[in-house]
Amino acid sequence: MVCDCSPPSQEDISMGLAFCGEDCLNRMLMIECGSRCPCGDMCTNKRFQRRHYAKTEPFRAEVKGWGLRATSDLSSGVFVMEYVGEVLDYPNFRLRCKQYAEDNHTHHYFMALNGDEIIDATQKGNTSRFINHSCDPNCETQKWTVNGQLRVGFFTLRSIPAGTELTFDYQFEQYGSEIQRCFCGADSCRGIIGTVKEGHAKEVQEAEEEEEVDIAPKKSKKLFDDHMLKEEIEKLESNNGLRRKDHVLELARLMVRAESSQDRRSLLHILQVTKEAACLRL
Ligand SMILES: [Zn+2]
Ligand SMILES: [Zn+2]
Ligand SMILES: [Zn+2]
Repeated sequence: MVCDCSPPSQEDISMGLAFCGEDCLNRMLMIECGSRCPCGDMCTNKRFQRRHYAKTEPFRAEVKGWGLRATSDLSSGVFVMEYVGEVLDYPNFRLRCKQYAEDNHTHHYFMALNGDEIIDATQKGNTSRFINHSCDPNCETQKWTVNGQLRVGFFTLRSIPAGTELTFDYQFEQYGSEIQRCFCGADSCRGIIGTVKEGHAKEVQEAEEEEEVDIAPKKSKKLFDDHMLKEEIEKLESNNGLRRKDHVLELARLMVRAESSQDRRSLLHILQVTKEAACLRL
């Protein structure tokens, strides 16, 4: 998508303005600009593509194993790093799980990408795989659309002084059947990493049982639902229509990510029940 930012003038450039900054339509919708961006080389909304990562280093985080910490002060809302690895479909994900269980891997590095694919950073990845879970995290994952493909990255939730360990909430991305103890030390610590949702563990188990009789696993099985997407849609639905400017922005962001007819219908329904004229105009 091409944003409607104005191309930079010589004067703008000499003033050191940020192009495709906070007001860029693409940025607001969590889409990175492409080659046709009016701001060209001056566009700052290409952080995944240009690997504009924060300064970090791996370190020994005692009982947690490896961790990743900031080596410079980071402000809030900063892009830390992309979560990269091998993108697996469902049958290959199952094979890896079996293989890692046989090899007694204690750590695994799976991250849900969308309904059909998972990122495995066990064998190929970058240092972002060392970012540990915390029940009170200072980073979050965000899903951005880059040249039509969904990618996952870590972003800071608050300002982080140099030397601080970077953490995120692994809650929705845990697919192992074994419960891992949490050592995050937060007051709000839940005690375990990756509270597997009620029913989800059962689903995994059922899928495993099913596989024994079913030689060719169904490729279309939606085991890795985009939980966050579903939850975000439900949260927006609970407002009974769009009521504020930020609801409109949230709806537009969800529209970029929604791929199933069911999700799209839910989003259309939110529009249908909106009474607020100002929101409808937006
Ligand atoms: Zn722009
Ligand atoms: Zn741009
Ligand atoms: Zn914890």
